[in-house]
Amino acid sequence: MIKRSEIVPAQKRAADMIRKAGIVIRDTEVESIAVADFGLSNLSRFGAQILTWVETARYGVKVIVLFPHQILPEHWHPRVGDDPGKEETIRMAWGILYQYVEGSDTIQLGSIPKEKETVFTARHEMVLHPGEQFTFSPGAKHWFLGGEEGAVLYSFSSVVRDTLDGFTDPEIVRVTQIIED
Ligand code: ZN
Repeated sequence: MIKRSEIVPAQKRAADMIRKAGIVIRDTEVESIAVADFGLSNLSRFGAQILTWVETARYGVKVIVLFPHQILPEHWHPRVGDDPGKEETIRMAWGILYQYVEGSDTIQLGSIPKEKETVFTARHEMVLHPGEQFTFSPGAKHWFLGGEEGAVLYSFSSVVRDTLDGFTDPEIVRVTQIIED
């Protein structure tokens, strides 16, 4: 759960980073930035700020902001009916992104939170800088960690069904619950 009072500052901080990346957004878009805590109630450690530009039944374009050392938890995009699952390309716009995919364990620069050792299974480390991009196949597990100054990235994907994403951590609740304070 996330407190209402945490949302606006997180949206502002994310908007500043998006603009620092040279990406033009309207003031009215700032309040539409989704602040997701993935139900772990520790936004600075686990979360993501997501501005959705396009979300149709067939494709989606978003800007994802990770604050410094913030983790977007491990997940995959599952098959849904005849659809093999969301195919997604991310492209770095600003900062440094540590990205973890399936494969040999090469974690060196980032680290897995102690209490979550068992639910982060993708341990092949990749470091992405602005201008670099990567495409995830449907079903492939991945997670992200923002660098020292955080990261701003574009996400281009086929059909968006984020609430159907699979997460390795059973404590995750993908639909953000807001508590009024
Ligand atoms: Zn993903």
